[in-house]
Amino acid sequence: MKLIDAHIHLSDPEYAKCADELVADAKRSNVVALVSNSMDLETGLGSLRLAEKYPGEVYPALGIHPWNVNVLKENELEETLKLISEQSQKKAVVAIGEIGLDYKYEKIWDKQLMVFDRMLRLAEKLDLPVIIHSRGTTAQIVDMLPSYNLKRVLLHWFSHPMSALYKAVEHGYFITEGPPVAYSNGIRHVVKKVPLTNFLTETDGPVTYYKPPFNGQLTRPSFIRTVVEAVAEIKNMAVVDVAEQIARNFEGFFNIKLN
Ligand SMILES: [Zn+2]
Repeated sequence: MKLIDAHIHLSDPEYAKCADELVADAKRSNVVALVSNSMDLETGLGSLRLAEKYPGEVYPALGIHPWNVNVLKENELEETLKLISEQSQKKAVVAIGEIGLDYKYEKIWDKQLMVFDRMLRLAEKLDLPVIIHSRGTTAQIVDMLPSYNLKRVLLHWFSHPMSALYKAVEHGYFITEGPPVAYSNGIRHVVKKVPLTNFLTETDGPVTYYKPPFNGQLTRPSFIRTVVEAVAEIKNMAVVDVAEQIARNFEGFFNIKLN
């Protein structure tokens, strides 16, 4: 059985001392692919280094997260865009992410919109998938994306509204869900309604999950097994069948052949 962590932040400073241990944990638990999302230029370079160290296991996604928009250094946006273009030519980047809009940071709304637009335009140009953070902005984002020519869109940690889920699925977008599938009724409802063909699993580590069965432990790729089991229960399917469909989705979405 091949399991997938389509959204983790392996180059996050919180993981700095244990990235190798996390890759080993993935190996032990059959998590065969880790998409290392980035928040800024520095974590983007970190994701690239890890992908180089673990080819065929760690896949880098580069971008500027909406939380980082207000602390961008001079030229950081341009340098990040340039890095993505260069790495895309070498086929060394699998997606642009994590990018998006967050309503909690409304004071920097215009700057968030500007950075998000630049990233989406680059994704169009390079024909790369996008991995999107949309806290409180999902409906708005789902409405604005069709004005871009994007073929592969992933809405990470989709929570609400359900109307945006149905629209996203109509457009062929994907969503990811992680550990909350095991304890959150809202997220379980989303999983129930989303077709499995539009679904991928994630941990979003180092985000910590305090509810059982995770109980605030350091988030690691082996949590994916629990997520897939919870999805199988919701979908009334065998765990192996769910895992197989997710592995197939991963290959199709990221255009990657799994080892
Ligand atoms: Zn994330």
